[in-house]
Amino acid sequence: MELLVALEPIVIRPGDIIKPGEIVQARRPERLLSEGKARRLNRAESQRILDRYVAEAREVFEAEGPLVCHACKGTDFWTSVHGVVVCRRCHPPMRDGLIKKWIGEATGRTK
Ligand SMILES: [Zn+2]
Repeated sequence: MELLVALEPIVIRPGDIIKPGEIVQARRPERLLSEGKARRLNRAESQRILDRYVAEAREVFEAEGPLVCHACKGTDFWTSVHGVVVCRRCHPPMRDGLIKKWIGEATGRTK
């Protein structure tokens, strides 16, 4: 993944404008670079941004749980008393005492 930073406003589509200083993830970065509308981030800058994305994604995951299970594509999860977020379909709780809370459509029934 190549990250660029906008040097001047870049219109992605009408009403969707990247402001100078914002990060661009362009499908064809050559065009933006040759037109002088963006510059490549150096390795340290890219790493800093990626680290921030990862940290933000982790916060969302811990706050809301994953939206979709990567194994079964289910959207129901439960949080164990140990703080682990688990897919309801792939790993139903063995007993109610393990459940801290439900996330998603589930109403508390395990089957
Ligand atoms: Zn699952």
